[in-house]
Amino acid sequence: MKTFYSPTHLEHAPPEEFEGGRMNPAVEVPARALGVLAEVERRRLGPVLPPAEFGAEPIARVHDAGLVGFLSQASELWRKRYGEDAPPAIPSAWPARGLRSRPDGDVETRIGNYAFDTATPIVKGTWRAALAAANTALSAAEALANGERGTFALARPPGHHASSDVFGGYCYLNNIAIAAQWLVERGLRPAILDVDYHHGNGTQSIFYRRADVFFASLHGDPSFAYPHFLGFADECGEGDGDGANLNLPLAMYTDWRAYASALTLAFSRINAFAPDVLLVSLGLDTFEADPISKFSLGTKDYLRLGEIIGGARLPTLFVFEGGYNLTALPEITVNVLEGFEGG
Ligand SMILES: [Zn+2]
Repeated sequence: MKTFYSPTHLEHAPPEEFEGGRMNPAVEVPARALGVLAEVERRRLGPVLPPAEFGAEPIARVHDAGLVGFLSQASELWRKRYGEDAPPAIPSAWPARGLRSRPDGDVETRIGNYAFDTATPIVKGTWRAALAAANTALSAAEALANGERGTFALARPPGHHASSDVFGGYCYLNNIAIAAQWLVERGLRPAILDVDYHHGNGTQSIFYRRADVFFASLHGDPSFAYPHFLGFADECGEGDGDGANLNLPLAMYTDWRAYASALTLAFSRINAFAPDVLLVSLGLDTFEADPISKFSLGTKDYLRLGEIIGGARLPTLFVFEGGYNLTALPEITVNVLEGFEGG
């Protein structure tokens, strides 16, 4: 399997995030991708290739121009306001109910307008890393369109929480949505399967009113899990997209048995949609010892997950998302990919 990877992600390394009422050490760190890269090489999964440049257009097909414009300037505007040594940019106020959404204005206005949490800081290298992550997903999508059976976009920062015009959840640009849209424009019919512990709210909202991309997500029930405000079972799509969205919120401490039965249900709906490509938001934070999540999948379960995905017999693009246990992350990630190849 070809892996696409750019070291530009190293430029995005906020040291901390604000959560639980205080600054905490960041968990979405460069060591995540570095560890997986080393394991891909150690287990000889296949060639590791640099991404190509796809330019601004594929991003503009998914994301609002105001968000893209802001993200590209955010760090510079922040440092102009708070000084060259300023800490990472994090919003302090949002246009919640009763307030006015304002895409223009000073950096505090714009960051509040486009962010939905305090866990997604912007540093000097964030924009370059986000662009490289989108190009990594696009390159892996292109290889798939050219006939590969499976490809892996080892992209960071992750993407599935970013919607068309809002960033958050460690995500700035929605890598998998950008790849899916690019494939649609090449005449393909994608289904997206999101196996990250957290609901892929950004991906869902981007395709929610569309019939040409199916979205299925297995995740911690938002009644107790981030992102709290989307990902419930009654969200089925709207308008043309009615029936093309499937949420399977799962209980705390979900183990492989319960997970596998939800996965079977997801694939019955994916198969009914009759896609010709499968895109997997590959989050590994379902692991039993993940520091920020509460599922109970074990190391070997990731081989079975890959086998089941491979059993769908669809050209498959894996896009790296969450997963924060730095010790286990390399092994469980490559377990999925090897399971797929053997499945
Ligand atoms: Zn996650």
